[in-house]
Amino acid sequence: MKVYLAEKCGFCLGVKNAIMLARETLTRRQVVYSLGPIIHNQQVVDELAGAGLKTIQSVEQIPSGTVLIRSHGATRRQLHEIKDKGLEIVDATCVLVKRLQKISHELNEQGYKVVIIGDEEHPEVQAIIGYADNVAVIGSEKDLGKLSGHGKLGVICQTTQSPDHFAHMVAEIVKKGFTELKIINTLCREAIKRQESAVKLCEQVDIMFVLGGLNSANTKKLAELCRKHNNKTFHLQNWEELDKSSLRGAATAGVTAGASTPDWVINEFVDRLRAVSGDDRNNVESGD
Ligand code: SF4
Repeated sequence: MKVYLAEKCGFCLGVKNAIMLARETLTRRQVVYSLGPIIHNQQVVDELAGAGLKTIQSVEQIPSGTVLIRSHGATRRQLHEIKDKGLEIVDATCVLVKRLQKISHELNEQGYKVVIIGDEEHPEVQAIIGYADNVAVIGSEKDLGKLSGHGKLGVICQTTQSPDHFAHMVAEIVKKGFTELKIINTLCREAIKRQESAVKLCEQVDIMFVLGGLNSANTKKLAELCRKHNNKTFHLQNWEELDKSSLRGAATAGVTAGASTPDWVINEFVDRLRAVSGDDRNNVESGD
């Protein structure tokens, strides 16, 4: 079986920066607190925990010291609590998430109801919500009822949503006849490039593997997109989760990974897949 790796996959710049800042901070502090898991990847969380990064869920749990804000950002309330407690902040909020927070604040100042196309439970969306007083989060058509009675909407999008979903939801909003719509494209190019190369590859192979945390929004989005184009798509966290019987009958396999999946997880998966399928190194190719 030939094994192909997606042209663009694995750590994005925002995640790389957060991990680098965590490592750097741990060289000068014995303990650093991370507000929520630094990334949606358990192996990386465990490795950094061994070096002193403690994952906590609320500012209340931090007695003193240094707190790392992960790439998803923190809510405004959490930031106030951190300031009030006099904690040192190491801010690893991705620049694109910061941009989104700023846009949300500006739309609010300009009198728009802020509409976020995204998953309300996701920490990035939670961190944006506090930047405007009047916000609605739209996950799908069933949430459109939240928008009735407002004339002026400022529409933005969670960074890792797909362009197709953003466009579809905007089209649905347009049909509702609001008097003014301001639409700002806040999608992440890194996430889009991963989606595009995953779709391109999955269309060319018999079986497709998407590697990454089960809670990772961008990995779930990759798996969802690949499933639309290849019904033999599997979302796995690592090699151990592979059911080898799924390989039966496949002559080609594609591998991609979310923005929070480390290279070593990807490389181990590709190498072992090649080994069990009798492929040789020359057959591990980029799927560009
Ligand atoms: S996926 Fe994009 S927005 Fe999210 S952390 Fe990475 S670079 Fe930033």
